Amino acid sequence: MQFPAWPQFDDAERVGLSRALEQGQWWRIGGDEVKSFEREFARHHGANYALAVTSGTHALQLGADVLGLQPGDEVLVPAFTFLSSAVAVQAIGGVPVPVDVDPDTYCIRPEAAAEALTSRTRLVMPVHMAGQIADMEALDKLAADAGVLILQDAAHAHGARWRGKRVGELGSVAAFSFQNGKLMTAGEGGALLFDDEDHYQRAFLRHSVGRPADDRYYLHRTTGSNLRLGEFAAAVLRAQLGRLENQVTIRESRWSVLRPLLAAIPGVRPQASDDRCDRNPHYMAMFRVPGLTEQKRNLLVDRLVALGIPAFVAFRAIYRTDGFWDAPAPALSVDELAERCPNADAISGDCVWLHHRVLLADEEQMHGVAAAVAREIAAL
Ligand SMILES: *Cc1c(COP(=O)(O)O)cnc(C)c1O
Repeated sequence: MQFPAWPQFDDAERVGLSRALEQGQWWRIGGDEVKSFEREFARHHGANYALAVTSGTHALQLGADVLGLQPGDEVLVPAFTFLSSAVAVQAIGGVPVPVDVDPDTYCIRPEAAAEALTSRTRLVMPVHMAGQIADMEALDKLAADAGVLILQDAAHAHGARWRGKRVGELGSVAAFSFQNGKLMTAGEGGALLFDDEDHYQRAFLRHSVGRPADDRYYLHRTTGSNLRLGEFAAAVLRAQLGRLENQVTIRESRWSVLRPLLAAIPGVRPQASDDRCDRNPHYMAMFRVPGLTEQKRNLLVDRLVALGIPAFVAFRAIYRTDGFWDAPAPALSVDELAERCPNADAISGDCVWLHHRVLLADEEQMHGVAAAVAREIAAL
């Protein structure tokens, strides 16, 4: 089967790249592309400020830093996510505490987060899995009651809305990724959204080795690193942002066809949507097959790939990777964490995801995809 290519580009990217080239200055301090992109990305998501950085991982790390995370502080992260949600915290000495997820939306369970709170909890990091916004109502309440802050991992949530609100209007710092597979991309890159000017100013200093934008005297107001995005990437991202909403609309429409077709296959449970997430950009088309062993799930993915369907196995529960234990981690064993996180543990073994370019194909092809999934499961 054939699906649209990803990433997509046309003359908008070409024009942007040559505009950046001709500026003569290729870093943000000398050029205008990063600044313009930040303004456009912030406006698009309803935030006061955006800061472009080198990756989504760095965006999360810088977000946690700006929100005051100190070595030894705990951060509640969903056990089912890409490892960067944890790595970003660990990079500044924080301890990621894996929390179970909902068995159907795959987002952090607020009740489980409440149980995992301790006097050392500083942040809660909801991941908007595949574009499905986590239960921000319950999490905002939990955070307010416990006196902790929220850092949204919005690496899958460009253009998403929760009860009509855009990600930048949800009242907390949000981190995005522009890595090659994400919903808009320059190959690599990331961004943070802020409401609060102090947070933004502090993040700016930290991402530029402590230097204010107009510094000519090596002032280095704080420590920090160089996380600045380059002008070429920003020029590409400005073009990508222009294509986002139309693509979200297409993917929503295709998922509304594919989802019931998948749900009708015996044993298949597609990712559920929470109705309060009223715009879902669908970073992945995900479904579980809870009756399958992990080995058979992997075989199913191989067979779908052989048919030309871009299928992948779901993330491994973060505590089941060596990388998680290579940095500050909770004083709990893998078995104890698995016992606390039964849904994440099960999902990582029985879930399959399809690349979002599948949802950019014709409606007709949704029937072909569902038929292939049904056939291959029956043949396992
Ligand atoms: C992709 C991703 C990241 C990291 O983004 P990079 O740009 O690859 O560093 C973080 N969290 C989640 C959930 C992701 O999928």
